[in-house]
Amino acid sequence: MSDGPPASRQRGVAVLGSTGSIGTTALRVLERQASRFRVAALTSYSNGTLLGEQAAAFKPAFIGMVGNGSGDAQDGAPDGAQRGWHHGAECLVEAASRSDVDIVINAVVGAAGLDATLAALERGKRVALANKETLVMAGDLVAQACARGGGEIVPVDSEHSAILQCMAGRPGVEVRRVILTASGGPFREWSAERLANATAADALRHPTWQMGRKITVDSATLANKALEVIEAHFLFGLPYDAIEVVVHPQSIVHSFVEFVDGSVLAQLGVPSMELPVLYALTHPDRVADSGVPRFDPVAASPLTFEPVRTEQFPALGLGIAAGRRGGAAPAVFNAANEEAVAMFLAGRITFAQIASAIEHALEAHADAASGNRDELLAADRAAREFVRGAAAC
Ligand code: NAD
Ligand code: MG
Repeated sequence: MSDGPPASRQRGVAVLGSTGSIGTTALRVLERQASRFRVAALTSYSNGTLLGEQAAAFKPAFIGMVGNGSGDAQDGAPDGAQRGWHHGAECLVEAASRSDVDIVINAVVGAAGLDATLAALERGKRVALANKETLVMAGDLVAQACARGGGEIVPVDSEHSAILQCMAGRPGVEVRRVILTASGGPFREWSAERLANATAADALRHPTWQMGRKITVDSATLANKALEVIEAHFLFGLPYDAIEVVVHPQSIVHSFVEFVDGSVLAQLGVPSMELPVLYALTHPDRVADSGVPRFDPVAASPLTFEPVRTEQFPALGLGIAAGRRGGAAPAVFNAANEEAVAMFLAGRITFAQIASAIEHALEAHADAASGNRDELLAADRAAREFVRGAAAC
């Protein structure tokens, strides 16, 4: 436990995607931890009104809005770009590369976060990574950027934060297996017939977590858990055979680690992203004034576990198979999923068509070249075009 460094040693933090679910959670955490951290940069895609309020409250040196503020609001709020703000997709890399930034919280949704993750790692910074799509599409490139620049990734995803905390610095050879918990999402108990008619409104009604729209749909299809299995593979260097998934509807146990001697550790807590965000900032230290509600085992009872109904949720198996296949397959899985989810949310395809779009995109593009960033981005684009084209037929 540490009492916090003096103000002169405050660490500079860039929050990419500050207007989103994780971004606003991160700013709540940073406000409480103002003696330890200073917000140096904020970026969003749009929602200039909220970004402006955040800028007034935290006074960062850098403010970036990827959209041009001309009413292209992606998250439903009016835009309101102000003088001195940076614009365009480059502002993510600019924010992530600044010399006054020590930690980049990447809370952008989707593949758009890739270059910022790579830039921060190349410059030796810590990336507090919520943007799991980055690691899924380009795990090897991200590892190379870490090695070259001396940066480090600390996961924000609650399951991976749990695994990191349970591993507590022990060598990987001591780990036999990890078990990621999944809430099961809103459709955990739905029949195949009912699932076929699930609407976007149904999918957006998550039982335990309040999150952005894309990850909420990913939680309903279980594509999110596939992304997390691939994320665990890259973060912890685990073979796919050593990564399992169990459904835990209460979302209190955030994941398990089984060690070679048979001992199993788990990390528990209320379903709030505040603690994983805070831990990604302070790791390996812990701070006393987290503001996180105290754990009450009686109130949390009962804790239950179930197998995944894999036939009803084919996106999970498709994603894990893409991870095992490697190369461009995880990037194609991710891109096809992003595109299909956007189309589902727009009412253009059904819930079941999300998984079939992913399956067909993988059949067509999984063997695309994947040796460098540009090839991966080409595979990403081809998968998106394929999904859009298939839906137009
Ligand atoms: P969100 O949709 O609420 O917020 C996304 C943020 O990214 C917004 O600030 C938006 O303006 C910005 N953004 C969107 N598109 C962009 C683009 N093309 N370029 C730059 N910025 C862009 O999403 P969220 O729920 O906060 O999720 C963010 C990331 O965190 C995702 O990768 C998600 O999988 C991951 N994650 C979220 C949670 C959660 O509880 N919400 C938990 C674990 C992991
Ligand atoms: Mg998660």
